[in-house]
This record gives sequence, C-alpha cells and structure tokens, in this order.
Amino acid sequence: MAVSAEGDELAGRLERVRGEIADAAAVAGRRPDEITTIVVTKFHPASLVERLAALGVTDVGENRHQEAEAKAAALAGLHLNWHFIGQLQANKAKAVVRYACAIHSVDRDSLVDALAATQATIDVFLQVNLTDDPGRGGVQPALLEPLAERVLEHPQLRLRGLMAVATLGGDARVDFVRVRAASDRLGRLAPEATALSMGMSGDFRAAILEGATHLRIGTAITGNRPTPG
Ligand SMILES: *Cc1c(COP(=O)(O)O)cnc(C)c1O
Repeated sequence: MAVSAEGDELAGRLERVRGEIADAAAVAGRRPDEITTIVVTKFHPASLVERLAALGVTDVGENRHQEAEAKAAALAGLHLNWHFIGQLQANKAKAVVRYACAIHSVDRDSLVDALAATQATIDVFLQVNLTDDPGRGGVQPALLEPLAERVLEHPQLRLRGLMAVATLGGDARVDFVRVRAASDRLGRLAPEATALSMGMSGDFRAAILEGATHLRIGTAITGNRPTPG
C-alpha cells in the first residue's frame, strides 16, 4: 500500500510539473513540444526510474558515471534516453558514450578530445560557467568560441547548444539571459547549435521564458533525493 501511495505522489508531481511547463510555454508563446523534460534521477534507485518510465518519461539525467552506468544497464529494456549532466573525467568518456545519448557538461578541450577518440556519435552541449568558481564546472563564457571550434572539428560530436546552471542566490532570469547571449554568439559559428539546456526545479519557468529547450528537473518530480551513497 505504501508503494502505491508513493506511486500516486510521483504521478501527481509529474503531472503538476508538466502542467507548469505547459503554462510557462503558453506565457512565452512557445509550443510545449519544443521543450524536452529530462527528469534528473541521481541518487534514486533504478526502481524509481522504472516508475517514471511507466508514467511516460523518456529522458532521464544522471551526474555520476558509475551510478548512471548501473541504472542504464539494469533498465536497458526500457530504451530510455540517458543524459549525462555532471562533471565528467576524460578517462570515463569511453564508458559514458556506451549508454548516454547526450553529454551536457562538455567544458574543456581534453574532454572533447576524449569524446572524439571514442568515435561514438553523440549529442554534445557546452556547459557555460556563470560564476568565477572553476570548481562549479563549465567553460567561462569568454572561452566558449575556441571550445566550440574544437567540437566542430569532429562531425560525430553533434554540437546541440549550451548548458548552464543558474548561480546560487542569483536571479535565474538574469543568468539565463546571459546564456542566451552566449548562445547567440555560438550561433555565428554553429547555426544548428540552438539548444539550451537550462532550468531546474526552482527556476524552470524562468528558463522557459528565456528559450530553454531542455529542462533538467529533479526534486520537483522525484521528491527529495536520498543522501548520496
Ligand atoms: C541535480 C541537478 C539538476 C536537478 O536539480 P533539481 O533542483 O533537483 O531539479 C539539474 N542539473 C544538474 C546539473 C544537476 O546536477
């Protein structure tokens, strides 16, 4: 009985978030079907991902390779799209491209080179760091163009666009305007790379208003995360 109550809560949260996405899209004059919702399932067991899939979720996001690899293997039969959204060590590239459809956190030449060396065809988002703290991951906006050029040398790396995380305590809308400006610059080098992976549980409405095409939403759908193991 506990399980079905939990299942109802999950379904309810998913439905509520889907409604909020549709509302924000309407306010922005955008079609909801141009927005992909990636449900971030990090720290949650494979069983939760399975329940999400049963509710129609097709895209899930993970930020740690070992955990993502195990879940993707356990749930291979569900044919989900696994998005890798966390900081990625170059020496993990080869393993990650086996299950991931997209890497949202490409932020340096060594990672581009490692991904290219795998020969895999994979979607790539360049992560832009909106802070001055290199520990947060992402390329500084000023260094975006050379990194994009590096990706464009490798046609099997399909440059989709940019990814960003809003700054802590900042105004997310202002942050997303900055990402959009960076996206306009990227468009001069790579006209196809128009995707914007931005917007999390607390700020996805602002992200939709600023043109997000890929939302990465965790807790608003999954509920609180278990503590990381
Ligand atoms: C965890 C995480 C999210 C989801 O965060 P919520 O606040 O739970 O929605 C999105 N993007 C990245 C990069 C994350 O690590």
